[in-house]
Amino acid sequence: MPEGDTLRVLADRIQRSRVGARVTACHLRHPRIAGVDLVGTTMTSCDAYGKHLFIRFDERTTLHCHLLMTGRWMFDRADTMPAWRRRIDLHTDHGPIVGVDIPIAEFIPTRHERLITAHLGPDLCARSGPPDPTAVTASLRGTPGTALTAALLDQRRVAGFGNVYAVDLPFLSGVHPTTPVGEINGLEHLVTAGIGLIRENARRGPQNTLGREMDRSAAWVQGRRGQLCRHCGDRLVGRDDDDVEWGRIVTFCATCQPLTATAVDVDRIRALAGSHPGIALG
Ligand SMILES: [Zn+2]
Repeated sequence: MPEGDTLRVLADRIQRSRVGARVTACHLRHPRIAGVDLVGTTMTSCDAYGKHLFIRFDERTTLHCHLLMTGRWMFDRADTMPAWRRRIDLHTDHGPIVGVDIPIAEFIPTRHERLITAHLGPDLCARSGPPDPTAVTASLRGTPGTALTAALLDQRRVAGFGNVYAVDLPFLSGVHPTTPVGEINGLEHLVTAGIGLIRENARRGPQNTLGREMDRSAAWVQGRRGQLCRHCGDRLVGRDDDDVEWGRIVTFCATCQPLTATAVDVDRIRALAGSHPGIALG
């Protein structure tokens, strides 16, 4: 699922492999950008902020994209895909780059990127380094009555967490996803663990919260509703997207994450995910 780490991996790959490339053919089928001709322009840089991707071209123009749940990019021939799914189809003298099923795409003046990022919280996977956990914690607590998972998903508070982290971090912490952020003691430990996990996953590639089998994407609870808890063996339960205020399916273990828990269990984080190289709690 495209989260901040996915976007960091993507932006770094484009930066590494396509910056300096000249566009030799251009087929833009997304309705917002159809008709724009990039032939002859050069990709000058690429970066991500949270889940937003910015591909910059000379003439100070930026292609801004958001993948939501469906979009992805391919770096080699994508001819097997129907043309209508290849919404951004660029051929360059460094090879093709193809945006498949990209739901949001627009061209903006490069100087206007900040109009988009100004509304977002600290970027978890920034190239410049990790955000300050204290500042992220304060941002999450901005509205104390907000449910933990809703706060983690709110990109205005912190940019980059998606459902994998918004569901697995409460599990690792032993806190119920609906617990109000203002009632959770030790929230900064969850934040520190989350920053470590997502940044290390951005560095390595797979989206892994398990701390084992690190060469593949794997989660403790996300996407495992109805299966057995990897820790206590009870069956994982969940709520549908229209049953929670934040509108996304949530999975949890009622035994590991009792509604009565009001503190982040640091020992539990260490025990469950301490082998993940991104977990380095003091
Ligand atoms: Zn459990």
